[in-house]
Amino acid sequence: MHPLEMQRQPLPNLPCGHALAQRTLPRPMRQFDVPVFYRSSLIAQVKDARRTSDPRKRDLSPSVLDFGPVRFKIARHFGFCYGVENAIDIAYRALDKHPDKRIFLLSEMIHNPHVNDDLINRGVRFLRTTQGEQLIPFETLEADDIVIVPAFGTTLEVEEKLRAQGVDPVAWNTTCPFVEKVWKKSEQIGRKQYTIVLHGKRYHEETRATFSHARKEASVVVVRDLEEAQLLADVILGTRSHAFLLDRFADRLSEGFDPARDLERIGVVNQTTMLATETAAIAALLRAAMREKYGDATLDQHFADTSDTLCYATNENQTATQALIADGGDVALVVGGYNSSNTSHLVELCEKVMPTYFVSSAEDVVSPHLIQHFDYRAKAHRETSDWMPEKRPFEVVLTAGASCPDALLEAVLIKVLGFVPGAYPVEAVMASFATAASTA
Ligand code: SF4
Repeated sequence: MHPLEMQRQPLPNLPCGHALAQRTLPRPMRQFDVPVFYRSSLIAQVKDARRTSDPRKRDLSPSVLDFGPVRFKIARHFGFCYGVENAIDIAYRALDKHPDKRIFLLSEMIHNPHVNDDLINRGVRFLRTTQGEQLIPFETLEADDIVIVPAFGTTLEVEEKLRAQGVDPVAWNTTCPFVEKVWKKSEQIGRKQYTIVLHGKRYHEETRATFSHARKEASVVVVRDLEEAQLLADVILGTRSHAFLLDRFADRLSEGFDPARDLERIGVVNQTTMLATETAAIAALLRAAMREKYGDATLDQHFADTSDTLCYATNENQTATQALIADGGDVALVVGGYNSSNTSHLVELCEKVMPTYFVSSAEDVVSPHLIQHFDYRAKAHRETSDWMPEKRPFEVVLTAGASCPDALLEAVLIKVLGFVPGAYPVEAVMASFATAASTA
């Protein structure tokens, strides 16, 4: 057991009186040492039962928890991914092993306020905001300090600044290997003189880091969505001018970008948490533009095959969410940090099909008559009255982003359950999952 586990306090606003919230269940995959208060025994039972019955993850249908008047449909895949668990493990290990040292994070470790707040409460200090605003000058760092690089990775320029202060940027590096895989792919095709078209949000930490690593070997242009990819395709095909590109994408081009030279050979990579279907559509659109311009025979000289840069967790969570909403439901609750890119894409999928609320924790689910939620497009907090369906039974579709602790999803479920008179007891409903999980 992680030495700190005995000292850690539960997260605020969790139903900690709930007996199911306090145990850690074994997981068959690589084990990371994640604090128990981020886990949920209820969710672990559901996940373990599914893993037992479908070890190859072929069945994407949701797990159904039928409480009588309310039925929860939970996505086959959601919650902490490999990269997030790895980062949490490393950060808490730094706290455990070096209580005497100053510990800094370059910025938010992951996009979940509960995890970041817990680290701050334990004395970790953030050097920058998630938008890149400096909170603590790099010049104040000392060689003995610990600086944790978050799961998104960081830029070569920041690594240089740390080294200048005598701080090793590799010693406590939690950069996700799936992000590094994108960097490697960028370097690989960059060395072959392909320009990198990076599908991402220009000021997201991961895209800033990938942009920095990619431009070491290649010219880079960042496109936010399909609409921007179409503008780029127009420039490739000559229906828009080079001057248009230099102006419209001014803050999204690598230095010295020359449209005449740099749009002859391109390859698409992405910020790992973008909507997978959108990355695929962008790649298809740009490939078609290159084919139209250069013909089929030499297409591979103008368009690099990069189809394997999507992250497994993003893929799994999005395909599971698609299966979840295809199964139907009356209302969807998506749990995660409001600045979490991967969570906002799950919201985007759900809201096409049913009323959907993006909540950060159970606290947002105020009552059956009021829910607080986040509008990720307008970046604004909203309140909606009478969000809970009146019909009985009704179905709640439930999922969470890759940076959301399972304990938060459980707390949302328990909170909603408390609003539904006559619901069956949790233990009775979970009995079948517990039996299935115990055969694992
Ligand atoms: S979402 Fe994917 S790339 Fe991002 S931390 Fe998780 S596993 Fe890594």
